[in-house]
Amino acid sequence: MSTTLLANFEFHCYGCDESAAVEPRGAACGHCGEPLSLRFSGKDAPTCLDSPPESLWHYREFLPVADRDSIVSLGEGATRLVEAPRLAAKFGFEQLLLKNETSNPTGSFKDRQVSVGISHARELGMDTVAVVSSGNVACAAAAYAARAGMRAVLFMHGMAAPGKIAQAAAYGAKVLCVNSPSAGAVFELCVAACERFGWYHLSTSGMHEPYNVEGAKTIAYELFHQCGGDVPDWIVTPVGGGGLLGGIWRGVLDLKRAGVLNRIPRLAGVQAAGCAPVKQAIDKGTPFLETLKSPWPNPKTIAGGIADDIIFDGHTVLPAIRTTDGLAPVVTDDEIIAGELLLASTEGILCEPSCAVVVAALNQIPRNGRDTRVCCVITGTGIKDLDAIRNQVAPPARIAPTLEAVDQEMNS
Ligand SMILES: [Zn+2]
Repeated sequence: MSTTLLANFEFHCYGCDESAAVEPRGAACGHCGEPLSLRFSGKDAPTCLDSPPESLWHYREFLPVADRDSIVSLGEGATRLVEAPRLAAKFGFEQLLLKNETSNPTGSFKDRQVSVGISHARELGMDTVAVVSSGNVACAAAAYAARAGMRAVLFMHGMAAPGKIAQAAAYGAKVLCVNSPSAGAVFELCVAACERFGWYHLSTSGMHEPYNVEGAKTIAYELFHQCGGDVPDWIVTPVGGGGLLGGIWRGVLDLKRAGVLNRIPRLAGVQAAGCAPVKQAIDKGTPFLETLKSPWPNPKTIAGGIADDIIFDGHTVLPAIRTTDGLAPVVTDDEIIAGELLLASTEGILCEPSCAVVVAALNQIPRNGRDTRVCCVITGTGIKDLDAIRNQVAPPARIAPTLEAVDQEMNS
């Protein structure tokens, strides 16, 4: 597999701020050894920033796919930014905004990353993609492969929700549930299979495949447009491997470099207490490469979608939090379920547990008087994982088919 780097792109190290002009897929920074990321290097601000997006591909100038015919799209991105006035009042924020990624084609923000990654794969002439996933990436890879007429092989590990496995299989993908407690071992198996069988590795791990995480940047561009040429004071997201928050940060930096934005929001990446390597790294000041030596032992949380024992995008998410005076909040499983039900019952959006961490962490975001504008990225729908809340909601009242019974129940 070979590639040529696109015009207007370079590889950049966010660890030491060095850039490399040549394609070093999978190569490390020659100065500090951290993985390299793609970066837009055009001289002029792209004209796409001046008009509203109809999909993620509105921002094609910022995305590393040269051949328009290679684009695989289901209409991802261009998601709504929704006001959440009741949640804002509850937590004491001037404004609380929800970037509703549940409306993406397969129900999660991963559609952004997979659309860009699989388009790159098609541009390379690949016919099969393979991913490691706890669920959402697998669903997205399966759907976009079906859309492209390509084959998808999904390596799913023990944390995958049954509903997500069924969804992925429905798109016609080959689903392999790997019998191993180690996420790292499943990942190594997928990588080895890609090498052996000539498949494109579509996992959303920026340290291995920098093209696959590029789609997350578009959330920053959309927020910039939706906030009238500005960004909120805080952007709060869940963190598993870190590609989402790292991507939003890189998108914001693109806007600053383009000269259209003059400030950087503070970024909060929320994890579950049962798997919190980012929190640990931030608290201890651990360099990214050091974190790889000690994966989080025995991840255990209801938020299976963010139970990554390794910070696969630590080379971007750690500086994203550190350089923006950000935060790495941690929440318990009980707080996560409560957050999911709070969001659903106050604002009408049902998210999955892996996303509900952001609601659960809102009381940890500092208030600057009342002039704090916060945006939570609602990364994935809860409809895929109803088992998580089935026993947490009130059971239905069973009544006789009479008005009296209705009246009695409503007043009980
Ligand atoms: Zn470097």
